[in-house]
Amino acid sequence: MEAFAVPKNVRVRIAPSPTGFFHVGTARTALFNYLFAKRYGGMFMVRIEDTDVQRSEKRFEEDILSGLRWLGVVWDEGPGKEGNAGPYRQSERGAIYKEHLRMLFEKGKAYYCFCTREELESHKNYMLGSGLAPKYSGKCARLTDAEVAQKQKEGIPSVIRFRADARRLSFTDLIKGKIEVDTGLIGDFTIAKNIEEPLYNFAAAVDDVHMRITHVIRGEDHISNTPKQILIAEALGFASLAYGHLPLILGPDKAKMSKRHGATSILEYRERGYLPEALVNFIAFLGWNPGGEREMFSLGELEKEFDIRKAHTSNAVFNIQKLDWFNAHYIRQKSTEELADLCAPYFPGADAGRLKKVVALEKERLKKLSDIGELAGFFFSLPEYPPDLLVWSKSTKEKMKESLPAVSEALKSVSESEFTAVAVKNALVTLASRFTNGEMYWPLRVALSGKEFSPGPTEIAEVLGKDEMLLRVQRAIAKLEA
Ligand code: GLU
Repeated sequence: MEAFAVPKNVRVRIAPSPTGFFHVGTARTALFNYLFAKRYGGMFMVRIEDTDVQRSEKRFEEDILSGLRWLGVVWDEGPGKEGNAGPYRQSERGAIYKEHLRMLFEKGKAYYCFCTREELESHKNYMLGSGLAPKYSGKCARLTDAEVAQKQKEGIPSVIRFRADARRLSFTDLIKGKIEVDTGLIGDFTIAKNIEEPLYNFAAAVDDVHMRITHVIRGEDHISNTPKQILIAEALGFASLAYGHLPLILGPDKAKMSKRHGATSILEYRERGYLPEALVNFIAFLGWNPGGEREMFSLGELEKEFDIRKAHTSNAVFNIQKLDWFNAHYIRQKSTEELADLCAPYFPGADAGRLKKVVALEKERLKKLSDIGELAGFFFSLPEYPPDLLVWSKSTKEKMKESLPAVSEALKSVSESEFTAVAVKNALVTLASRFTNGEMYWPLRVALSGKEFSPGPTEIAEVLGKDEMLLRVQRAIAKLEA
């Protein structure tokens, strides 16, 4: 590979088509471009590629932009942040494409093709049958102006093709190294449905140059488009840009990442209780690694560390357990106050003071914010559980019928104003000659939480307060007696 020159005046972009939700693949491309820009003091742009009017939807554009904002991958130019390279939606750039299509016609690099779908299909089958890579036959490549005019007058449907002369084309991919292509194998490809409706390769090639993009970093699935975009840019007399193609993201079953493997939209991870910090760290490692043991990187740290040369060439695997691991880490990093705010939506109307205490108790056990609902619901409403759960497996129901009322009596003696976990524990020590710890703490835990696993019963008692604790213990005693 050629020596890597530190890039200057970096301008990169993410160019999503709003034809679907903001999925993990697009998020990864966005993050890598953003980091590349930050690392070299450059500019990161969002360009919405909405030329396909049938499939583009405003709600998808909104999902993409909100997802980027949530991750903290903020763009310097793009929708809502006008700069001098706009407009930033392809649907608003029609005049630019038209002008450049005309330029290609004038240079003899574009022509109208009137072939029918059937003709194209049968030629393709013929090529495949002969063991050749399919490409356009070139049938309409030599139509005269008069012939074109006649066909247009007759209303014969057409598309616009690019004349791709056969030659060797090579470019140095930032990630994959030198790539060589025989453009003769590509053939004359379509660049527009008509003069008003450009297709992806053409619009992207024109925009990348017009918007002064310096590096195109995107998924490997676009690698076959790159020679076409280079040819178009060359034909228009534009200088070439640098390209880098990131490896694919696969599901754990090694199939291409899809809905089956994760959420449809990045924002769905927010709904599921993931933190943006976790997602950013996780996504950064999908196809990249700074080297070394360290795995925890905040967005700010990644901005300093990111080095595109360390991007992998082999495919990345999406592993949700790894995401959970990052998430649990970032949850533990939060202050109790921050975490209580993040958990508040799971307990609408809950007392803020109690929520803070609950969060402090449960923090270590949370993998996702949403786990708080399942883990800590009992703090905010009376728990439901089968009476048998009150019986410790190493003892008997009869024994519980003795221990729990004794526990209740002992706890009544603790003063309301000093009702702390330590005070509760000390009160129970007085019963140590009559009951084992299991005989006291097991039924107390279940009475208070309805659960086998929970924070310690004395801690729960402190959060609930004396009255509520006694109420729950009474309820449990009644269950045992019933
Ligand atoms: N609109 C294309 C996509 O969403 C952009 C590809 C590119 O970055 O050029 O996949």
